[in-house]
Amino acid sequence: MTTSIQTVEIIIPLYNEAGSVAAFHHQVCTAIADLSYRFLFTYVDDGSSDGTARILEQLQQQDARIRIIELSRNFGHQAALSAGLDASASDADADAVISMDGDGEHPPHLIVEMLAQAEAGYDIVIAMRQEDQQAFWIKRSTSSAFYWLINRIGDTRIAPGAADFRLITRPVLDSLRQFHEYHRFLRGIVAWMGYRSISLPYSPARRIDGKSKFTFKKMFALASQAIFSFSLVPLYFVISLGAIFLLLAFAEGIYVLSFWVSGQQSGLAPGWSSLMFVLLIIGGTIMISLGIIGVYLGYIFQEVKRRPVYLVRRTLERIQPSQSAATP
Ligand code: UDP
Ligand code: MG
Repeated sequence: MTTSIQTVEIIIPLYNEAGSVAAFHHQVCTAIADLSYRFLFTYVDDGSSDGTARILEQLQQQDARIRIIELSRNFGHQAALSAGLDASASDADADAVISMDGDGEHPPHLIVEMLAQAEAGYDIVIAMRQEDQQAFWIKRSTSSAFYWLINRIGDTRIAPGAADFRLITRPVLDSLRQFHEYHRFLRGIVAWMGYRSISLPYSPARRIDGKSKFTFKKMFALASQAIFSFSLVPLYFVISLGAIFLLLAFAEGIYVLSFWVSGQQSGLAPGWSSLMFVLLIIGGTIMISLGIIGVYLGYIFQEVKRRPVYLVRRTLERIQPSQSAATP
């Protein structure tokens, strides 16, 4: 299959990246300077409060290929990415879309290789982060524990290190728009979609400025979104746990009965401690089970409300949308 990619749109979600975005844009422009595609940029400002918006507007004055989408508040990385993807889907001429972080950790030179793979017929090209020695060990170990778990309990295989740095071609972009999930784990959704996909290894570069916007809370939210929207295993686990306790209760019943049958019921000490022990374990199990069921219920509640994933405060369209070879 030969593809005819002409226009490539790059989507970059940003949250308080005032210190990085100008240098980032420059890096990307340098990396793609020799390519003959028509490039477009969509920067999504995810409710930044540090002047990112102002710097983006300055960049737009210098580079007519830039469109800016400002969200009404901070909706999170996956929602910001979705805003960019939706906007690029409405650009009828975008033949391929590349999503990447705006902090410089996703090396722009990979774009060249990604496009080469797309030309070779791949619909999805995923950049795969190699073991990041620079990352803090907690981030590394929680990340590998997460991928280990999601691949054990989920039906969709998600390769460890798969970042949201990837290229998708037009057909994939159009299919992606059919997903209306409120809880989005785009890496999982893309893995679920199929298509012809290939991964490219890369070593993450250093952040240009500032520090990670993924707080522990945000990371935890992303992990639970992935687990609860891609796996029903926690529910089955709880059911099995309940069954095991029932079996134990049954065994204990038989054990106690054996004392009565053999006339040794006096040997049954009034076992307050053992009773409490069992009570606590079962009480705890029921609470955990209810909690897990509650989480799924909460997810269903949020899905049925059909709230928008993000809200756009304003869009600053490209100054000259038809202009193709503007350079900054
Ligand atoms: N980001 C965002 N909204 C958020 C958090 C992060 O748009 O609520 C952006 C951020 O500006 C960056 C990308 O998502 O361009 C990845 O975030 P970050 O670099 O902080 O995460 P890490 O690389 O540490 O996982
Ligand atoms: Mg980063």
